[in-house]
Amino acid sequence: MPRITTESLLQMYRAMLETLGPSRWWPAQSPFEVAVGVILTQNTTWGNVEKAIANLREHDLLTPGRMATVTDEELERHIQPSGFYRQKTRNLRAFLNFLDEADGFDFIGLERWETPELRDRLLKVKGIGPETADSILLYALGRPVFVVDAYTARICHRHGLVPEDVGYDELQALFTDRLPEDAVLFNEYHALLVRVGKDWCRKKKPLCAACPLNGMGLEPAWSVLDR
Ligand code: SF4
Repeated sequence: MPRITTESLLQMYRAMLETLGPSRWWPAQSPFEVAVGVILTQNTTWGNVEKAIANLREHDLLTPGRMATVTDEELERHIQPSGFYRQKTRNLRAFLNFLDEADGFDFIGLERWETPELRDRLLKVKGIGPETADSILLYALGRPVFVVDAYTARICHRHGLVPEDVGYDELQALFTDRLPEDAVLFNEYHALLVRVGKDWCRKKKPLCAACPLNGMGLEPAWSVLDR
């Protein structure tokens, strides 16, 4: 394993940012809309989520109080384009119940909780796992929480930074133990890793030659194996 330093992680970041430019995540008109998008984006593409969000906007359902007034059947119909719509309706309902109990549907009221307590509470909501909870904390509430996902794991494993079966917490600690606690940096870093994962670091036949992370000091393990 290479020695992983703050500087080597920042080199990765700069290499991606210089090539790809800012990601401007998360595109939404309110923190609640971000949270809804985070829940809907599980197991689907962003394009499908956008269609579901557009339906919700068209019916003026992008506030917790308004969304809570509709039946499950109506909610299912609006979010159908995002796939797994029955399960996601249950998850949205559980999230709305959480908001209601927490602060009477006042999403911004979540601000009063410290990040560790809020994260623990979110993780108790049905359908919210670590990646979803951390995405809500970072992208909806601006908390300095590093989000990791399958793309992060693949890229870091291929560069020899973590084992293939790395767990969520271990992967997250790779970044949070070394990087300054900065929500803006964490926001952009995760977004860039997702873009690299989607466009270059594919599951099969990654496109290392054209990838922004190629040739930047960390040896791509995949290229070594492939030679
Ligand atoms: S250089 Fe290759 S292994 Fe590294 S992130 Fe890019 S595609 Fe993946």
